[in-house]
Amino acid sequence: MKVKISGILKQNGLKFSWEETESVSVPEIVFQAPIHLKFTFTNTGRTILAEGNAEGGLLLSCSNCLQNFSHPFSFQIVEEFWNSHDAASKTEEGSSLEELSIFFYDESESIDLTEAVRQSILLNLPVHPLCSPNCQGLCPVCGKPKSEGECGCEEELNKSELIDERWGPLKTLSDSFIEKKQRRNYNAKS
Ligand SMILES: [Zn+2]
Ligand SMILES: [Zn+2]
Repeated sequence: MKVKISGILKQNGLKFSWEETESVSVPEIVFQAPIHLKFTFTNTGRTILAEGNAEGGLLLSCSNCLQNFSHPFSFQIVEEFWNSHDAASKTEEGSSLEELSIFFYDESESIDLTEAVRQSILLNLPVHPLCSPNCQGLCPVCGKPKSEGECGCEEELNKSELIDERWGPLKTLSDSFIEKKQRRNYNAKS
């Protein structure tokens, strides 16, 4: 994801547009297809300002049913890139480059967008990704995703509940028996 910016380095205010569809490999992220990047690079004098948009699709795992699903994304990216000669002075000020989270363009006068794009994607990922707003989750008995159809466990559960209900009348009977007995004891005392 390297962009040659030598053309705008000569003068403040110069800018150029850049657009490309690229296959990217970023750790922790599974892309479904090459992502589309569209950027404008502006020489601000001290930095190169990169403003653009990243569009594509990710493969995410549903936090509810654990199935993989495709998640289309499109978001803005705005980052400033400093001349790598400034790296030394930045670190002299006491902070490490990681702490500052500053991007640089290198000696070959090109900007590598990979890290900026990776960070934006991670920031824009849903905290609880869902395959669909009404995801049914997993069967609590056998663990099969409910979207894959009936596993039969629910039926089994209902059957066992039925048995419980059959014991119901007996329970009422014993309750009323205990109640009667208590009432008799109370009457006997008074
Ligand atoms: Zn799901
Ligand atoms: Zn089941």
